[in-house]
Amino acid sequence: MRPGRPPATKRVVVLGGGISGLVAAYELVKRGAPIEVTVLEASKTLGGKIRTESIDGQIFETGPDSFLTTKPEMLELVRELGLANELIGTGPDAGVDILLGGRLVPMPAGMNLVAPTRLLPFLLTPLFSPAAKLHMALEPLRPSRGDGKDESLADFARRRLGAEALERLVAPMLAGIYAGDPERMSVASTFPQLLDMEKRGGLVKSMWLGWLGTKRAARRDGLTTFMTLKGGLSMVVDALQRRLPPRSVRLDTPAQAVRRREGHWEVVTPNAVIEADAVISALPAYTFADCIEGIDPELAVRLREIPFSSTATSVLIYDDKDIPVKPKGFGFLAPKGEGLTVTAATYSSAKFPGRAIPGRTTVRAFIGGAGRDADAEGAITRLESRVRGDIDKVLALKGAKPAAMKTTRWIKTNPQYEVGHARRLDRLGSCLKGHQGLILAGASYGGVGLPDCVRSGRRAAELVFAGSRRSHDAVRPGLA
Ligand SMILES: Cc1cc2nc3c(=O)[nH]c(=O)nc-3n(C[C@H](O)[C@H](O)[C@H](O)COP(=O)(O)OP(=O)(O)OC[C@H]3O[C@@H](n4cnc5c(N)ncnc54)[C@H](O)[C@@H]3O)c2cc1C
Repeated sequence: MRPGRPPATKRVVVLGGGISGLVAAYELVKRGAPIEVTVLEASKTLGGKIRTESIDGQIFETGPDSFLTTKPEMLELVRELGLANELIGTGPDAGVDILLGGRLVPMPAGMNLVAPTRLLPFLLTPLFSPAAKLHMALEPLRPSRGDGKDESLADFARRRLGAEALERLVAPMLAGIYAGDPERMSVASTFPQLLDMEKRGGLVKSMWLGWLGTKRAARRDGLTTFMTLKGGLSMVVDALQRRLPPRSVRLDTPAQAVRRREGHWEVVTPNAVIEADAVISALPAYTFADCIEGIDPELAVRLREIPFSSTATSVLIYDDKDIPVKPKGFGFLAPKGEGLTVTAATYSSAKFPGRAIPGRTTVRAFIGGAGRDADAEGAITRLESRVRGDIDKVLALKGAKPAAMKTTRWIKTNPQYEVGHARRLDRLGSCLKGHQGLILAGASYGGVGLPDCVRSGRRAAELVFAGSRRSHDAVRPGLA
């Protein structure tokens, strides 16, 4: 015990300074409880995948660019941190195109997530063949499977909506969010709402009702489904850091191992061994596996069962004069069969006009994902030339060069919730039982979106407080 520390003070070490770890640390300090928090971050900056950059005054994101407001946690955090005035919503020119045979075909109006909610645009769209439309239209008549067995997103989509809807809509749109392979992704762990909708009379009916609901709600509170901040999402990271006590964050300090000694934890770093009563890991599962292997090889094996895929984002900034026809909507999705390296692209300047520099069009392209990891992992010059070629072709730019381009690779950083993920979490939970005071949080486990990560960080702190409230003061292990 360090001299001068009141005996009741609990020492908590948080591993990883991404949004999950930072929220856990912030929640631990904000109530003024006698808790001493130390955040260990391997890199030179906080934020993990949240990384806002700028070129010539144009702000852009190399990781997440926005957050869902239908899950409230991230929005609540932004407000709590006093950043409500910085919120900006998406522009009016909504809509996404799907690349079909090299041509951009607009997603029909009323196509909510993966099911049609308006008849006429659905009937008129060239996106699906008449047979596929009939198959999708009959979706409400299909009985729900209801046997509770986990199923892949692809099997679910084929069963409910048909193969064409899977290829042209579900795979590029939903699997893209997870940078995942729809044939392997667990529908229960990635889109459980689809299973609920299936039980409540089908996707078409539920999405139609949901679409009406969100339209009304959006009119009431002025929120759009996705929001961001004027100065980028790093504003949230900076605000969280400002609320942590000075010297509680140690950058450039990777956790190398965790071990038990005389009833407490020790976290080994290159320069010091830090004692703790509780450890919250907000690291990628396989990274924490390396830390825990020395004392629990089985837990390490379980952690490594969660696979990760690689992706990259390329931001291309064009002068408007170099773009013959201004693209419409927020961006496009490129189904696998189209043979592009780019899997999807967002026109960031149209998606978030509130921070776009006039006279410029910013395109953010996505590369890689499960089964296409090599595309993202290759040499950056080759990758950039393929991305430029793809964007040139799709937007018919006739060889126009971007004024600036920035590519960021995210190697093995996208956790994959494959079929059986829930069982894997159960097994992890069982392994954790022997490790009093060890808590696992972050995107590897119960949700990859920013609101999910905020919820996980909060729960991790709650588990620590729950321990403090109990008489013997020990923190129960758990998955947050
Ligand atoms: C390209 C991309 C786009 C995305 N877009 C969106 C989006 O628009 N909206 C959305 O909601 N979500 C999006 N996501 C998902 C979301 O960004 C992530 O799931 C979330 O940021 C993960 O946060 P985290 O804190 O759990 O993990 P991370 O951000 O991965 O943080 C983990 C931290 O641990 C650190 N670390 C690693 N090893 C060690 C060690 N040994 N010791 C100490 N520290 C270590 C890392 O440096 C990192 O800072 C996107 C993800 C990517 C990659």
